[in-house]
Amino acid sequence: MARPTILVTGGAGYIGSHTVVDLVENGYAPVLVDDFSNSERSALRGIRELCREEVTCHEVDCADRDAMRAVFEASGPLAGVIHFAASKAVGESQREPLRYYRNNVDGLLSLLELMGEFGCRDLVFSSSCVVYGQPEQLPVTERSALGRAESVYGATKQICERVIEDVVRSGVPLRATLLRYFNPIGAHPSALIGELPIGVPQNLVPVILQSAAGLRGPVEVYGGDWSTPDGSCIRDYIHVMDLAAAHVAALEWLAKRPESALSRVFNLGTGRGVSVREAIEAFERATGEKLDWQLAERRPGDIEQIYANADEARRELGWSAERSIEDAMQDAWKWQQTLPR
Ligand code: NAD
Repeated sequence: MARPTILVTGGAGYIGSHTVVDLVENGYAPVLVDDFSNSERSALRGIRELCREEVTCHEVDCADRDAMRAVFEASGPLAGVIHFAASKAVGESQREPLRYYRNNVDGLLSLLELMGEFGCRDLVFSSSCVVYGQPEQLPVTERSALGRAESVYGATKQICERVIEDVVRSGVPLRATLLRYFNPIGAHPSALIGELPIGVPQNLVPVILQSAAGLRGPVEVYGGDWSTPDGSCIRDYIHVMDLAAAHVAALEWLAKRPESALSRVFNLGTGRGVSVREAIEAFERATGEKLDWQLAERRPGDIEQIYANADEARRELGWSAERSIEDAMQDAWKWQQTLPR
């Protein structure tokens, strides 16, 4: 029997590459689309080695509708689409709002139009916990109010969620899961794929890795006077391998649904809040490396603490995060050591 084909936009990126490997392991045939605006073609080598097959990748901007139409035509019937492609740097989104709205919102609009045109119904969309803004209650559930987005990037994710919900409400045959990721970290344990920070990394773990590798100075901990037990911010760090598995679970869940139109939000986190200082300690414990860190000023727009209630994903998708923060730190460090200095 032919394997179900899944279009994966942004498939050469961090979360996309891990998901593509999981798709192949679970009997799907992924077709990738990536414009390499935030990834490198070398990521395809790692993907192909892990998949042991020539995974197809189209170098296309998914907001370019004509080029994407050609991809749909070339791919044959699609069992589903996973839409990772987006620009994701919060600080950059504040400086270049139009580019962020254009890339993140336009890409989704083209994709939804083409899915309608080609009769493809099932969509897994990459959203983010940034849609919650400053949460009023913890842990956040899918029913928690969406606060004002703290950044243009966050606003693009809120808009995309709204677009999908409106299309579903109109009765168009579209079935979508909106996956709100918390803080993905780690890498494939083989160290053949991982996160490639292009430019200066903004997220904690790439900063930790570069600091431990001697590529930068001490890790800066932004604010030591937050209302948390050790004064540093709290996040919900999830191993990227666990996150990848959730996409396969979401596709399987969608395929079993009787409805022809639906949208459903799922939080994807561990349910455990970990402070920045605890994350640094976890890295040291997992790798035996000693890290230098220092306190720095709070960054504007930072959220004090956020972590997920992920019960809904466990109940509905049969998915939960299995790996520890130490596993993630070990895998990330192994990956870092394969990168050219
Ligand atoms: P990434 O930048 O590593 O991957 C995104 C990929 O999409 C890159 O390979 C990039 O080249 C590609 N891309 C961007 N715009 C494109 C376009 N117009 N056409 C084709 N390809 C395009 O990012 P990631 O960490 O893998 O994130 C994947 C998705 O998950 C994004 O939508 C992101 O907003 C979301 N997300 C990420 C995080 C995180 O911390 N990594 C957290 C929450 C949500």
